[in-house]
Amino acid sequence: MRILSSLAFAAALAATSPAFAQDLSAGAAAVRDKALTDPLAWDIAESLTSEVGARMVGSPAMERARDWSVAKFKELGFENIKVETFTTPAWSRGAESAEVVGPWPHKLAILGLGNSASTPAGGITAPIVVFKSYQAMLDQPPGALTGKIAVVTQAMARTQDGSSYGAVGVQRRAGAAEAAKRGAVGYLIRSISTDDTRLPHTGGGAEGGIPAAALSPPDAELLERLAARGKPVMVKLDMTSASNPASPAWNISGEIRGKEKPDEVIVVGGHLDSWDPGTGAIDDAAGIAITTAAAKLAAAPGKPRRTIRVVMWGSEEQGGSSGAYAAAHKDEVAKMIVAGESDGGAGRIWSISLPKTATEHPAMTAFKSALPKLKVAVNRAAPNEGGADISGLMALGVPFVDFNQDMNRYFDLHHAADDTLDKIDPAELSQNVAVWAAFLYTVANSDIDFRVKPATEAK
Ligand SMILES: [Zn+2]
Repeated sequence: MRILSSLAFAAALAATSPAFAQDLSAGAAAVRDKALTDPLAWDIAESLTSEVGARMVGSPAMERARDWSVAKFKELGFENIKVETFTTPAWSRGAESAEVVGPWPHKLAILGLGNSASTPAGGITAPIVVFKSYQAMLDQPPGALTGKIAVVTQAMARTQDGSSYGAVGVQRRAGAAEAAKRGAVGYLIRSISTDDTRLPHTGGGAEGGIPAAALSPPDAELLERLAARGKPVMVKLDMTSASNPASPAWNISGEIRGKEKPDEVIVVGGHLDSWDPGTGAIDDAAGIAITTAAAKLAAAPGKPRRTIRVVMWGSEEQGGSSGAYAAAHKDEVAKMIVAGESDGGAGRIWSISLPKTATEHPAMTAFKSALPKLKVAVNRAAPNEGGADISGLMALGVPFVDFNQDMNRYFDLHHAADDTLDKIDPAELSQNVAVWAAFLYTVANSDIDFRVKPATEAK
């Protein structure tokens, strides 16, 4: 007992001393530099996208993804590996086609939106009404779209912070229900996309009870031009899909157990599921790869004092994993030091937001000292979002961080057939790993408490 308490005293002293802060800074720099040349994250993303590929909740591929996760955690030496089962609604795509049948016939490139209804067998043929903004459709009174296929063609701007996804993405997330309220029999949107290829981009949110699909950007522009000619434009939609109201799904986690305070847990991860057209490389094999590799690299100099847990959340795209994780771990939240999710692709991290409470703590001073070489700016404001899969933990009061990835290219690929491994730049992926690894290293080897109010506020 005497030896233990003096060790504990030494550790407590060490964790706040200037010498300790210097050691943390040096350690963070070493972890960062190792991460910049380490191939592990790339190998993980390559393995998941090659050995599993597309990973829709409720599909046989998702079961293979679950087994892949467990095997990968084992192979990498993670401990306390858990497979936590929950159930969630799962939608799956069947055959889909669309065409302009007259007066100027064209095949259309479409992709059904998650939770879209099927058409009756043989499809539906109806006149379209094109709205160049989502608001223009919302301005229609009830009944105004009866018997019509509503088409919203609002385009999305390319932005570094991805903010246009929130603004323009509402036409995908909520539009089918709004169109149905106004009497529409079908709903088409310009893909929530910044590219100009003929590949449509899918995504969730089509809970309107009518068939709903995304058009490739060139097809959306074609419909605008045809509608502008002043004659009724007839479109045939033929779509099938299936829904399982209670599909099994899994949150899978592995830990690097802390050697001094194993009950104090840092929770990071990405989501294992994906949409179906591509192989889910940037969304979100990248996030799985970045956080898993970062945890390993953070522990490479030696076992950390606290536990680092990596979670591969199992149903982000169709929802359910965040709530299931929070419910299963609600009794543990007081011991969760901080949570973070990587789910913005594989572009380099350009800025970070840390809880305001801790930016002057020696651990964060050490972390921040590793960032200039990585060209990462530290935002003055605390984060207001941290990722869909940690939102359940955030609601329970777990502190969180937000590491902002460059999203200029993300929406060229997101939820589309060309979300594939070749789009990941290994150097950018490594930069992400370096930021996360330095963060995990400093938090796991310190006593930082992100729940403590800053001194200036306490006064
Ligand atoms: Zn994602």
